[in-house]
Amino acid sequence: MSAIAQWDGVTKRYGNVLAVQDVTLALHPGEATALVGHNGAGKTTLIKLLLGLIRPEEGAVRVSGIDPAGAHGADARRALGFLPENVAFHGAMTGNELMSFYAGLKGHSTKRNGELLSLVGIADAAGRRVSTYSKGMRQRLGIAQALIGEPRLLLFDEPTSGLDPASRIDVFNTIDMLRGSGATVLVSTHALAEVENRVDRVAVMHRGRLLAAGTLEDLREGVVPHVGLRVRLRNCDTE
Ligand code: ATP
Repeated sequence: MSAIAQWDGVTKRYGNVLAVQDVTLALHPGEATALVGHNGAGKTTLIKLLLGLIRPEEGAVRVSGIDPAGAHGADARRALGFLPENVAFHGAMTGNELMSFYAGLKGHSTKRNGELLSLVGIADAAGRRVSTYSKGMRQRLGIAQALIGEPRLLLFDEPTSGLDPASRIDVFNTIDMLRGSGATVLVSTHALAEVENRVDRVAVMHRGRLLAAGTLEDLREGVVPHVGLRVRLRNCDTE
């Protein structure tokens, strides 16, 4: 199965900080993958590399076979939908208006906006100002925004960060629904427990290194102490 996106021996530094070190990982069509790790593990850096916002010092990044930071990067980036951590919306705009704004920014038609808002379950609130939305509804709007343009791969960077328990469930139910419809999803999180029954694969990052990657079945046999997960350590350095 050919990967939608992959990091191949990727290393990224910010000055003296080694944010990502020799990471090789692939995301396959129709699969949901959790990128798990504590603060500073390198999760956002891996996502930014896919988005072509930064370039690796070593190794290669590919989205649909294309370098997202290269000359044809725009073609690669069109395949991606992105929900940043702690996304903030202009509260005076309605859900409809924000969707139109983002569709315009991305160069897509607004035709499917209603359908996307309905897909994430907030069509009834589409005409309301976003300042009246609950946190969970705002995240669902963020997910609808990420779905504009029918991306092949959805990247959700800590989508439950700062949310109350009810809103967290709200967000994960939406991700479950997308997964059920065959979407390819990467979701980064600090907490394996909140995603373990919702994804096909798990990749565990710690201080820039990929500690383990595979299905939960594959990983249950060993221990990665940093995330409290019993996993088998395959080609991994546990320090
Ligand atoms: P978090 O859960 O805190 O978002 P993360 O797993 O997403 O963490 P990254 O944001 O990828 O981790 O950060 C990896 C490392 O790189 C950290 O040590 C971080 O401080 C550092 N870092 C990230 N961005 C920059 C930057 N622009 N300049 C300097 N250092 C950075």
